[in-house]
Amino acid sequence: MTNVNTYEPVIGLEVHAELLTRSKMFCACPVVDSTRAQPNTAVCPICAGMPGTLPVVNRQAVAYAIKVGLALGCRINPTSIFERKNYFYPDLPKGYQISQYQHPLAESGSLQILTCAGARRVRINRVHMEEDAGKLVHLQDDGGAAYSLVDLNRAGLPLLEIVTEPDLHSLEEMKAYAAELRAVLRVLGVNSGDMEKGVIRFEANISIRPAGSAVLGKRVEIKNLNSFRTMERAVAHEIERQTHLLQTGGIVEQETRSFDEATGETRVMRSKEDAHDYRYFPEPDLPPLVVGEDWVAEVRETLPELPSARIMRLVEQYGLDLPQAQQLAESYPVADFFEQTCSMTAMPGRTLANWITDSYFAWMNERGRLFAEGRTTPQMLAGLMDAVRTGRVNRATAQSVLFRMLDSGVDAEELIRSQGLEQVSDHDEIVAVIRAVIGEHTTEYERYRVGKVELAHWFFGQVMKRTGGKANPAMVRELLQQELEK
Ligand SMILES: [Zn+2]
Repeated sequence: MTNVNTYEPVIGLEVHAELLTRSKMFCACPVVDSTRAQPNTAVCPICAGMPGTLPVVNRQAVAYAIKVGLALGCRINPTSIFERKNYFYPDLPKGYQISQYQHPLAESGSLQILTCAGARRVRINRVHMEEDAGKLVHLQDDGGAAYSLVDLNRAGLPLLEIVTEPDLHSLEEMKAYAAELRAVLRVLGVNSGDMEKGVIRFEANISIRPAGSAVLGKRVEIKNLNSFRTMERAVAHEIERQTHLLQTGGIVEQETRSFDEATGETRVMRSKEDAHDYRYFPEPDLPPLVVGEDWVAEVRETLPELPSARIMRLVEQYGLDLPQAQQLAESYPVADFFEQTCSMTAMPGRTLANWITDSYFAWMNERGRLFAEGRTTPQMLAGLMDAVRTGRVNRATAQSVLFRMLDSGVDAEELIRSQGLEQVSDHDEIVAVIRAVIGEHTTEYERYRVGKVELAHWFFGQVMKRTGGKANPAMVRELLQQELEK
């Protein structure tokens, strides 16, 4: 029997992402949140598939698709063709889906992913445009008989299908790719990334082969994976199933499978269909989609810095470590806030980043608030950082000043002055407090003198408490040692 380690999974992902346009792909119906809107309230004769209606392409959807294509480094084809993909399903009233097949909008790109093995690029085969289908809701009547209702609110929503080459070779790489792609779509402002609402859905193609082999095995497609977790479980199970089959002399069939959340297993839906089963042909009601160079250039102008590039830049420019940079870049407003603050203070980037990811985030947790609800500008945080850096306030005081600043929007300087929070670094003043504390605790002092040296920490705490936490901790530590040893 062959060892399991000699097999390598080969995974390709197809990602379906809804585009955040105001209206649908081929009609003027509004895009509504299909998890909340009343069923069938955003439907017209076009998206309901009535005979005699004519589709009209949504210009904004095309602009978003170009944006994604460019962000993924794809070639934008000057002419792409909408085609009919024919199949029957109750949520598809037309009996076909308008999609792109032979001539997609964008091709041959890549996306950089970061895993513990480092950075590498995953090749993107294509990015094409299509429309979403409606939704079936499965119910039971009082007698227990099953029936289904159709909601067409989602029918005709603009969708992008983003297809990788079979370039992913582990669950970790697959997750990194999916997470990075989601981050890119969010940063581009074309998709909310709200997985619970089904705005991003996955299909995975999986085969396994002897490690080092260049030949691809028979691939199995798993449909309808609507969350990162489900995708991971399904693909992990499928790798295991195929490996076991090969190890025991079985044969992997090319087929389409679905994942059962309850059993954690995949099962056959149908033997794999081929493209000709859909009888694709050019949509006769739509002219070829022509995208001029001017338009592409115009969209290119609006491209923001992509997450992986930003993370690498944060590391290089500010000396952050990778997890810090990833944490900041997870939300662009947070990373923007960090960079603006950094430009206004001499506090090292790494320290400032910690103040944001530790203290600012702690405030959000404690108060149950969002980052944007903190009433502090980068300038105000920079002011507080300078007060820490120059020793005007100590760390512990600064932490409470930050919380008050975030609550009130009052400047750090004003809080420090009005509440007398300045750090006490006066030698004589600190010595006086130390002597008073020792004088009041002769028992502890005696025990210290006979060898219970850990009481030094306790004295330190007492002195800090006496100064309202404002004493310069380094000075207290040093002077306390001197006084205790006298
Ligand atoms: Zn409509």
